[in-house]
Parts: sequence; C-alpha cells; structure tokens
Amino acid sequence: MRRWSFQVKTSARSDAVDVTGLVADKVQESGLSDGICCVYVPHTTAGVTINEGADPAVMEDVLRTLDRLIPWKADYRHTEGNAAAHIKTTLTGSSVTVFVEKGRLLLGTWQRIFLCDYDGPRTRTVHVLVQGATSSS
Ligand code: ZN
Repeated sequence: MRRWSFQVKTSARSDAVDVTGLVADKVQESGLSDGICCVYVPHTTAGVTINEGADPAVMEDVLRTLDRLIPWKADYRHTEGNAAAHIKTTLTGSSVTVFVEKGRLLLGTWQRIFLCDYDGPRTRTVHVLVQGATSSS
C-alpha cells in the first residue's frame, strides 16, 4: 500500500478540477499492476466525483444545477455562511475508488476524476492511496 497527497488550486466558489492525470501519475509511480486506487478529499466543503470529462459543459451543468438546487442563501442553521457548500459536499461524497488493471486506471472512455470545490477559490488537498499487486510481486 502506498499513499500520496497533492494540492489543487481552484478558481471559483464552485469549481470542478480534473485530477485524473495527477492520480494516474501516482498509480504509475507506485508500480501497481492490479488493484485499487482510492482518491480521498479531506474537506467538508469540497468532494470528489467521477463524471464526463470530454465535454467540459457536463461538469458546468452539474455545478450550475447544484447551485440552483442548493442556493447559497436560504434558511440554514449553520452560521458560518457556507451551509450550501457542506450540503453539496455530502451529495458529492469525499472519495472515489477506481480499479487498476495493468498499471492503468480502469476508467470508462469518457470518465474523469474531478475535485469539486464548493467554497472556493482555495487550495485543496487530495489523498491518493493504491493497494494491490505490483508488477514485481
Ligand atoms: Zn461551514
């Protein structure tokens, strides 16, 4: 088992940053042949999800729809002012797991891994953990 962490800068209050390449680099660096890769975001107002990356409009639509469904200002109890970001994070989730086969993430043709920030812009942390058989084992 190996683990890495890296930082991602977001550029808007709601932003989705494609981290697939960074994750794939860590899988390659690990020498993992077959196993799993877990991507985990240790934040309460940012999450991680897998969705289409070929057309950037897809994640724009996701963010815009979340903004419409969960408005920034509403009758929230959380007094810090970012309740919407916490709710979106719960809907998004804090981790994704992707199978690794022959050293590559087993993503579908259109799938990419996105860090989703809902209270940016900020610098966010992404943890990557890989477990399984290395090509040398
Ligand atoms: Zn808060």
